[in-house]
Amino acid sequence: MVPGLRSEGARSPVYNSEDEEFSIEMHHGGFFMGNGVNRAYVDGRVSWFDHYHQDIVDAIDLDDVAIIGSDPLRTAVKPNISEEEEEIKFSFKSFRADVDMETPEFKVSMMFADAVELRKAIDQYTIKNRVAIKKTRNTKIRIEAKCAEGCPWMLSASMDNRVKCLVVREYIEKHTCSKQWEIKAVTAKYLAKRYIEEFRDNDKMTLMSFAKKIQKELHLTPSRHKLSRARRMAMRAIYGDEISQ
Ligand SMILES: [Zn+2]
Repeated sequence: MVPGLRSEGARSPVYNSEDEEFSIEMHHGGFFMGNGVNRAYVDGRVSWFDHYHQDIVDAIDLDDVAIIGSDPLRTAVKPNISEEEEEIKFSFKSFRADVDMETPEFKVSMMFADAVELRKAIDQYTIKNRVAIKKTRNTKIRIEAKCAEGCPWMLSASMDNRVKCLVVREYIEKHTCSKQWEIKAVTAKYLAKRYIEEFRDNDKMTLMSFAKKIQKELHLTPSRHKLSRARRMAMRAIYGDEISQ
């Protein structure tokens, strides 16, 4: 038999053991999505080629198969998209809500099923990282988010018609705002409690040496106002009303 493309609806041939022929199942016309175990070939078609023989397969390369085959296969071998576009598709990574939503991490070219999923991920990221992310643009096809004033963190995603997903186009991961948050979290009350023994040992400790101690241990410098409130609270806890009289 002459090797060739199986026509639509035709049955697979029955080979007998002597003719050493086989069929080739070819997936084409689609593209790859995702990475690792998530990598999948999507949106493709399947063609079968019957009556192939090992000698033929050894002697041809894929381009020859395309010529023996049909137009759709030719499209598959030489996709009608630029190499650059293909590169983009190959590098897309799907956000997997079931696994990734707990501690979302973003990357350029990451795909989100829809705007709802990306919004959720941004909100969860905001809670997890205790940062002040605001969505500056928020539609079904485009989402842009920024952090606090002066912080470089930003994310921009838009609908990609090829994969029908929201794809992250730009992402700056770095925060410079977190220090401000940490300073806020380190309250006067917290400092008073943490350093109460130091004040018990040395009730003459100056705000300056108190600040140096905090800088050394917590790597941040609270305001003078906060330091003095903390010292006052610690003193009150140690000496009770004596100090306030
Ligand atoms: Zn930030």
